[in-house]
Amino acid sequence: MQRKSYVMRIDIITIFPEMFEGPLTESIVKRAINKGLVDIRLHNLRDYSTDKHRRVDDYPFSAGAGMVIMIEPVDNCITKLKSERDYDEVIYMSPDGDLLTQPIVNQLSLNQNLIMLCGHYKGIDERIREHLITKEISIGDYVLSGGELAAAVLTDSLVRLIPGALSDETSALSDSFQDGMVSPPVYTRPREYKGWTVPEILLSGNDRLINEWKYQQALERTKERRPEMYAKIEGRRKKEE
Ligand code: SAH
Repeated sequence: MQRKSYVMRIDIITIFPEMFEGPLTESIVKRAINKGLVDIRLHNLRDYSTDKHRRVDDYPFSAGAGMVIMIEPVDNCITKLKSERDYDEVIYMSPDGDLLTQPIVNQLSLNQNLIMLCGHYKGIDERIREHLITKEISIGDYVLSGGELAAAVLTDSLVRLIPGALSDETSALSDSFQDGMVSPPVYTRPREYKGWTVPEILLSGNDRLINEWKYQQALERTKERRPEMYAKIEGRRKKEE
């Protein structure tokens, strides 16, 4: 019998489903799929084309280089998916979308059913964005060849937050950005390598001092590496005083 108790379902629409092999077939995402926590379905946009050559792109109106993904196959695919269940968001991966940050990942992780649409070439017909898309996400201010890598990044960031996906559930909470700070440094054995040592305090066995040290390290790193994030911590501290 098929397990239906997954926490999240993600439907990814793409013209290159094979690009997801690897990101979805290894590590934490693979384990979450195997545990039945997340159901990820890949949909080849070409299967929704009515063209005999399974075309999904066409020349842009107006001069200019680059092909554009057509509205019809995308609409066909989204309409079929929507007839099967309700979706919380239909997300288009786009360089000019909302910049993906941990707070956005946290918020999206509360959803149950998500569609992610991957563009390619010059992009997608604007009417898809106007009428079918409910959210647009960018993974950074640079341009990728397609939305596939971006959708894989978004999927990975979401799946690791599902309770049970990480073996130590508290570890997602102690990652960078979860408390508005970057992560403190981590070390493992050996204590000394080529004369390079581990900070003495970590070997002290004193949990209170170790936690204090970690907090201070995280704070200093945040100040140094993410000044805008540090400014927010300072602001909060001033308010509390
Ligand atoms: N002409 C478009 C770029 C198209 S890139 C522009 O200048 O904005 C082709 C596809 O890659 C896009 O449709 C989008 O789905 C994806 N893509 C490119 N960069 C991305 C980014 N930074 N974040 C998310 N998706 C991106």
